[in-house]
Amino acid sequence: MNKTLSFLQPRPWKAAWVPILVTVLVAACSGARTTTTKSAEKATAPPSSPLVQAGVDAIIYQSTSAEVFRLYQQCYELARLRLDANLARLAPGGDPPAVIVDVDETVLDNTPYEITNVANGRGYAPDTWKEWTDQGEARALPGAVDFLRYAVSRGCEVYYITNRTTAEKEATISNLLQQVFPMVDPEHVLTKEEGSDKTTRRARVAEHHRIVLLCGDQLRDFDESFKDRSVEFGRRQVQAMQDTLSSYFVLLPNAIYGTWRDAILGNGTDAEKEQRVRNFFDQNAYWHAGSGPEGR
Ligand SMILES: [Mg+2]
Repeated sequence: MNKTLSFLQPRPWKAAWVPILVTVLVAACSGARTTTTKSAEKATAPPSSPLVQAGVDAIIYQSTSAEVFRLYQQCYELARLRLDANLARLAPGGDPPAVIVDVDETVLDNTPYEITNVANGRGYAPDTWKEWTDQGEARALPGAVDFLRYAVSRGCEVYYITNRTTAEKEATISNLLQQVFPMVDPEHVLTKEEGSDKTTRRARVAEHHRIVLLCGDQLRDFDESFKDRSVEFGRRQVQAMQDTLSSYFVLLPNAIYGTWRDAILGNGTDAEKEQRVRNFFDQNAYWHAGSGPEGR
């Protein structure tokens, strides 16, 4: 057996789980968002392969860790500092200042959806995702409400730019209101229009506001150029924009899904995605090209 792939191979006594596990892996890796609906199916498979475990660890980390809890607090503490500094630099008069935030994994926590997906041996799907958002039961992430209410107290307008669909808008507004977020109404919650690119919606806000800060769990919540991960997984672009990012963007943690994961998995069937994951580990293992254990 090829040693570089051996840890990814199913162990014989677990072979029967493989099709389910691969499905769960790709699910966990493919942007899933689980539901606590009363109709939730019974769990069908324990996640136990190394690949599935990778996704499961991310969900456990995101949903339960005190570290992520603290990271959100920390990010919103930083957001307050950046907001104060940027407001202090604004010239008097002019358009009112505005803060733009993303919704999912920025101000609302969808990990109950992710957990339910794994428990049911399935991945993200638009119908189950909408079932989850229709419930309007996502909880506010730590620090988010206080920060946005502070921004309003400083004279800012708040815009929620999300790639939830128009069909999800009403339930999303209801969810945000129930979690006591400020300035939640149809004019301030901008859902997905033609695609996932948020540039046009940001520009629309900028027509009549001075945008003083943006917050999101994806770099694309700040600038669409971060969709391109072809050079050093996008890290070079982060370096190129570091000063601007530092002043005007606060990045929240999301270990479960995003452009970073899509850059490895790509599009296509679950089998194609799983093969790309295998290729990634094979090609990036430190003993690649005969320099490791087999080459010594
Ligand atoms: Mg998000």
